[in-house]
Amino acid sequence: MGYDDGDKCVQDLIRRQAKKIFLVSSTDSKDFGWTNQFKPVHVIFDAKEENPEYHERVIQALNSASYEKISERLPTYAATTPHDYLVRILCRRCHITRWARLNAQYPGKSVLRSAPLGKYRATCLKCGYEATDNQNWFR
Ligand SMILES: [Zn+2]
Repeated sequence: MGYDDGDKCVQDLIRRQAKKIFLVSSTDSKDFGWTNQFKPVHVIFDAKEENPEYHERVIQALNSASYEKISERLPTYAATTPHDYLVRILCRRCHITRWARLNAQYPGKSVLRSAPLGKYRATCLKCGYEATDNQNWFR
C-alpha cells in the first residue's frame, strides 16, 4: 500500500470503527512514510541493526523509486518542483487540473483533506493561481 491506496484502506477501516489497525510488512520493499499522518506506533524487528548498510541502500532505492513514479506523470512545467511539495488542484484560472506547489511538504491525503482552511496553500505551477480548497487536492 502506498499514499493513495493505503490512505483509502485506513480511512475505510476507521469508518468501520476499527479499534486498532495493524500494518505488517515482512520486507523493506515499501515506503510506509504515508502512515506517519496517522501517528502510528512503530514496532520494528529488522535488518536495520543486523545490516545497516543494506537497510540504508533499500530505503534509498525505495525513495527514488516512488519519486520516479511521480516523475513519469509530470509535465515539464512541474518537473523542477521538489516532488514532496507537489499536489494536483483544479485551477480556477486555467479551468483544468494542474500540478501545484504546496506551501509545505505534502503531509498525506488525510491530513491535507481535514486541515483547516488556509493552513495549506497550493500555487498553480502554470499560471500562479493560489488555491486554498485543500479538501479537493490529490496526487
Ligand atoms: Zn493555473
